[in-house]
Amino acid sequence: LDTATIGIIRAEDEHVAHNYHPLPVVITRGEGVWVTDVEGKRYLDLLSAYSAVNFGHSHPALLAVAQEQLQRLTLTSRAFHNDKLGLFATALADLAGKELVLPMNTGAEAVETGIKVARAWGYRVKRIAPDAATIVVANGNFHGRTTTIVGFSDDPSAHDDFGPYAPGFVSVPFGDIAAIEAAIDENTAAVLIEPIQGEAGIIIPPEGYLRAVREICTKHGVLFIADEIQAGLGRTGETFACDLEGVVPDMYLLGKALGGGILPLSAVVADRDVLGVIRPGEHGSTFGGNPLAAAVGERVVAMLSTGEIQERTRLLGEHLAARLEGLIGQGVTAVRCVGLWAGVDIDPAVGTGREVAERLVARGVLVKDTHGQTIRIAPPLVIRATEIDWAIEQLQVVLAG
Ligand code: PLP
Repeated sequence: LDTATIGIIRAEDEHVAHNYHPLPVVITRGEGVWVTDVEGKRYLDLLSAYSAVNFGHSHPALLAVAQEQLQRLTLTSRAFHNDKLGLFATALADLAGKELVLPMNTGAEAVETGIKVARAWGYRVKRIAPDAATIVVANGNFHGRTTTIVGFSDDPSAHDDFGPYAPGFVSVPFGDIAAIEAAIDENTAAVLIEPIQGEAGIIIPPEGYLRAVREICTKHGVLFIADEIQAGLGRTGETFACDLEGVVPDMYLLGKALGGGILPLSAVVADRDVLGVIRPGEHGSTFGGNPLAAAVGERVVAMLSTGEIQERTRLLGEHLAARLEGLIGQGVTAVRCVGLWAGVDIDPAVGTGREVAERLVARGVLVKDTHGQTIRIAPPLVIRATEIDWAIEQLQVVLAG
């Protein structure tokens, strides 16, 4: 590391709260799947800002829309209408096959919104007794960092010392359909799950799980809320991860890639009988639905609407899976791959996930470890097969020591 890099890292270290532990690389530029650091070194980005940069850094069409809108109008609040929000909502509702969109900014806000809508639906439509509504969630979940959300996390670093925790959540093992059914009673408003658990290490539930969740929710009059904030919008090779099982939830929670990697944009998408329960004044956000985000979001939705990105992701995902599976027994103990999204468990004999990530930085590849022994691979969906091959070669070198 040169002195400029060290100085920048030191400034962050001294004046930014230590709520993250970044890898020692200082990025100053990004284009497609490549980023460049302040020393001029290039890296292949295999994280995509936790799937927020699905379409690559500095995507020309997205930048053009953002720049045009930036000159014109950026923020009105929803005290007034703006000429972009309706267009974005129409396009997104159409992509999801739903009627209504509630725009917010961050993923955690979309989750909070989903919880509020489910509770209001529980009281106003299902007639659950006041303050008795519960939501069934899954062990190993990651839905964000608000005080309500961390209350139903079982990850000590997300949860511990941030109580008292909001009541009204019941957690059951992920992938266990009988456990969901056993947890449902007359007070259950919703089941909230990630169709594939991202932060937990790309945990793919058993085949048929999402279909069974759908059936149980319908049978018991409970809303199925799919948190597709990390899994959705092309990552798995489908528009939504629920599409992998041909399942339609009652509510989609979207975020990350919805803002094209340019700005925060999240949304709850559902039909009128669910999202229509929210009345004027009951929920909102100053920046939610702003015209700059809406313009970019509409373009993101347009890019996904042809299905080409999903198709390409499926094909390249098969290539990535085959290459990663070839590493099992050579420093890798297990691989879970869907679309361009993989959890790779590192053999402890080789080192921790963090150590492998650090050695990959030195070889020009950016990945992030999660939960000790796992590294997560989630490149921008515009990556090429030759770039995947090159990244796998770097990983092979690192695993070989
Ligand atoms: N839900 C899921 C499935 C996520 O992966 C994340 C972020 O990693 C969130 C919610 C929270 O999103 P944000 O960090 O934008 O609040």
